Amino acid sequence: MKNKKGDVIIVGTGIVGLMTAYYLNESGYKVTCYDFGPDPTNLHYDERMASTTYRSGNARHVTSTETSSLASSSRKGLIYKSPSVGGWMSKNIKQLTPSEKKWVDDFEYFTHHPEIIDRYNDDICRINNMGKKGWYDLIRKNKKIFENCGLQLGVGIFFLNRKHFMKEKVDSFERAKSEADFEDLYNTPKVKRLNIGKVRKAYPAFEYACDQDLLVGGLTEDCITVNAIDFCTNTINYLRNKGVAFHWEKFIVEIKRNENSEISHLVNSKGEILKANHYVFSTGWLTHGLYKDTKCEDKIMGVLGCWVTVPNPGLEAETLVAHAFDAKPYSPKCFSGAFKIDAPEPTNYINATLEGSKLIVSGGYGFIGNDITNIPNLIWPGVKAQFNHFEEIVKKIFPKAYEEAELAGSLDRRMCARPVTACGLGVFEELKTVKGGKTVIVGANAAGGFTQAPALAEAVVSSIKGKTDHFVIRAYNPSRLERSS
Ligand SMILES: Cc1cc2nc3c(=O)[nH]c(=O)nc-3n(C[C@H](O)[C@H](O)[C@H](O)COP(=O)(O)OP(=O)(O)OC[C@H]3O[C@@H](n4cnc5c(N)ncnc54)[C@H](O)[C@@H]3O)c2cc1C
Repeated sequence: MKNKKGDVIIVGTGIVGLMTAYYLNESGYKVTCYDFGPDPTNLHYDERMASTTYRSGNARHVTSTETSSLASSSRKGLIYKSPSVGGWMSKNIKQLTPSEKKWVDDFEYFTHHPEIIDRYNDDICRINNMGKKGWYDLIRKNKKIFENCGLQLGVGIFFLNRKHFMKEKVDSFERAKSEADFEDLYNTPKVKRLNIGKVRKAYPAFEYACDQDLLVGGLTEDCITVNAIDFCTNTINYLRNKGVAFHWEKFIVEIKRNENSEISHLVNSKGEILKANHYVFSTGWLTHGLYKDTKCEDKIMGVLGCWVTVPNPGLEAETLVAHAFDAKPYSPKCFSGAFKIDAPEPTNYINATLEGSKLIVSGGYGFIGNDITNIPNLIWPGVKAQFNHFEEIVKKIFPKAYEEAELAGSLDRRMCARPVTACGLGVFEELKTVKGGKTVIVGANAAGGFTQAPALAEAVVSSIKGKTDHFVIRAYNPSRLERSS
């Protein structure tokens, strides 16, 4: 039976596509999802998964600054250098395709224009905050999908570099005098700074790092922590019961248009034709040429991140799980089993989250492009160097836990790539579709796709309903990705 509101095909069921399916279903649309990866509810980790959401560690943080433009002025020149010398080029620079070379040059251009990046950061962080509000609303409305997902509130951010912590001018952000100030710009309530004595008291797990003078201070801020893959599994099962159809291992290869350039249907790898009233594409970093002749073509590339697992070095989370379910407003007194470390390049930021007796740690930034004929692996020299840098920091902070995991062979090294544009904005492109339908390309949310997903989903529903005033639609208009913006 035809749905009154219409039907929607979603291509790509990572966190962005999945959250969009949830919001569309809530709004009464008939939703069918296609993804070329295997069903993540059947298996947790599989090398065949290209996605960022499923081919990674379980833990994700939702914060007001979870992502911002990566092209800050402190990163001038860094995109051309190997991670072995603190750079971000994990791919062999001689093997860049012309479109990858253009992306890299665009990135460099934006590092020279902090006046643009400051403006874009305001928009990106506003969308982080919209996403965060969406997560709190979801927790209140639908406890079921958060069951056994390690939900926690609050996060500690720790600093290795005094200049990043103290109020001293650094050149990365025009208005923020330090990384800690940057947090203050976008957080409500404001962050709470902790001197080293307070860090020591509140986080006994950091005693060794404090004793060794590795840490210079910290701060705490509002954060929701969710085990991403468990959450997605719950949500897929929930949506299946609500009538949403999921088709895994289905590869969409072409978007077809009629003589008026309106999208008429999709074609999958078996040559089958797929039709609906509306289409949503949220395909992450590997777009496989699908966005040919759109403004998003070659604008989204992969920036690799590393994951390792170590035994819990003494963090506690129990009390906060209870708080999280009440979704009570964050109190700066809340400490939890989640933290971040502001680290040197190319590791940049480390995110860590407790999952039972394990600590899941992620970090590191390395450009890998979008060339499907040259997919990165752990033996690429650039990727190896990226892992070395990242693991050296984990080892320094928690030597015992790291050694234990290394001896037990349980480090469980994984990698996945963030979908990123050169200037750091996400994308929201609306394309002409037959019979007044809507087609939307959405994503490229870099280090904050999880955080922003509810805000993007809300924008997709708005767009399909014919409204154009949603902030995400304006802020992530792909014309803003160009150098002249
Ligand atoms: C190390 C690391 C740590 C991170 N930590 C955080 C964090 O703490 N908080 C946070 O907010 N974000 C975090 N992120 C970012 C976040 O994980 C990503 O932004 C997010 O997962 C991207 O989701 P997505 O749905 O856009 O893309 P994906 O998860 O990549 O999903 C895209 C899907 O599309 C499918 N697909 C692609 N092409 C096709 C096609 N042609 N046909 C069919 N299917 C197709 C793929 O199989 C894939 O499943 C982190 C990222 C990394 C790398």
